[in-house]
Amino acid sequence: MSLRVLISECLLGAPVRYDGGAKPSLAVKRLADCLRRRGGEGAVVPVCPEVLGGPACPRPPAERRGSRVVTAEGVDVTRAYADGARRSLDIARACGASLAILKSKSPSCGFDRIYDGTFSGQLRAGSGVTAALFEQEGHIVVADEKLVEYCEPSMEHPIALVLGSGLAPLADEVRVVRRIKYEDIDGFPTEAIPVEGHRYEVIIGTLEGVPVVVYPGRVHLYQGYSPLQVTSLVRHAHRLGCRDIILTCASGAVSAVASGAVSAVASGMVGLITDHINLTGQNPLATPQGVAAAEADTPFIPMAGAYSGYLAEFARAAARDAGLHLAEGVYAGLLGPTYETAAEVRMLNTLGADYVGCSTVCEAIMAKALDMEVLGVTLVTNKAGMIDNSHEDALKAAEKAAAATQSVLKGTISYLGGH
Ligand code: SF4
Repeated sequence: MSLRVLISECLLGAPVRYDGGAKPSLAVKRLADCLRRRGGEGAVVPVCPEVLGGPACPRPPAERRGSRVVTAEGVDVTRAYADGARRSLDIARACGASLAILKSKSPSCGFDRIYDGTFSGQLRAGSGVTAALFEQEGHIVVADEKLVEYCEPSMEHPIALVLGSGLAPLADEVRVVRRIKYEDIDGFPTEAIPVEGHRYEVIIGTLEGVPVVVYPGRVHLYQGYSPLQVTSLVRHAHRLGCRDIILTCASGAVSAVASGAVSAVASGMVGLITDHINLTGQNPLATPQGVAAAEADTPFIPMAGAYSGYLAEFARAAARDAGLHLAEGVYAGLLGPTYETAAEVRMLNTLGADYVGCSTVCEAIMAKALDMEVLGVTLVTNKAGMIDNSHEDALKAAEKAAAATQSVLKGTISYLGGH
């Protein structure tokens, strides 16, 4: 089924707000147009929980005060708001929506930050009644229009794409506007650049008509480079204006090997990275020079939600569109370069890892510190810890799964670009 998205109706221009007005978001409208083109009218499900709950337009403005919702005159409208939230969730379930784009700050739709109940325009942490119910439901990714606007790529804010083993050919599909030599990237170890290395040029241009910055090669901790050197590409992308970053890598399948049974993750698959476990013993924000060297504001970054649920929805949709199975799981980042012992594979499985590899985690940490939205996609090229593992085998498997991975990446980029 194509991607179904529930959207606060006022963001699409419907005059449903308390004062009879709308709050259209151009980015949300562009995304809605894209979804309808791809999936038909039913791909976009506009709802206004407040109207569904009973109150017509115009109606008195209300705000959440503790667990209640009250109007400026002190009338308790909690029940109507709860009804509207329940009906919205029923609609979302009935149409199979996996993403909800809700209007920020609202006592019904807002999530993360809402008006604080004083009717003074002040905000506080928390969610509106509908957003809270959707978050509790757990199967629907919740975003707001600010995130849609933030993630929408443009020439000023292209999508960064770091290509791992086997995916470098995707760089050849970029309509090139400009190239930047890796040696001109601040902090990138120039000694890592081979004499003939087209993999070591940043490619700026468009892919699927969407502005992108592509990094066709990277360096690793296992080569002896520091976490800051390893993450120099991420900082470079951030300086170029990128807000979305897609990190790709090759990995070994942990869960299939450890369980010995049919698993969601097996070699030859394309996998979505939903979270990671950093077992490298390194962190790019732990620098002797402090976070200034990392160009971040603080080293104390919350890593919950490090991988963007919003971007992941488009990757899932792109995989479905291409008729591909997309595995999902947790990536364990090890220092490498050796493959894992049998005991280590068992340990990784116990820890909850599905894939294992030697890249990505430091880059994801740096991207999160720089407030970028991260999508992680891995080519599962081998069984973790298998005795016949070799880098050549991994490259061969990567080549096989590369076409599928490229379709997922291009489809995701296309969705984000509104095409
Ligand atoms: S309830 Fe949601 S959709 Fe309706 S007006 Fe408020 S923010 Fe918009």
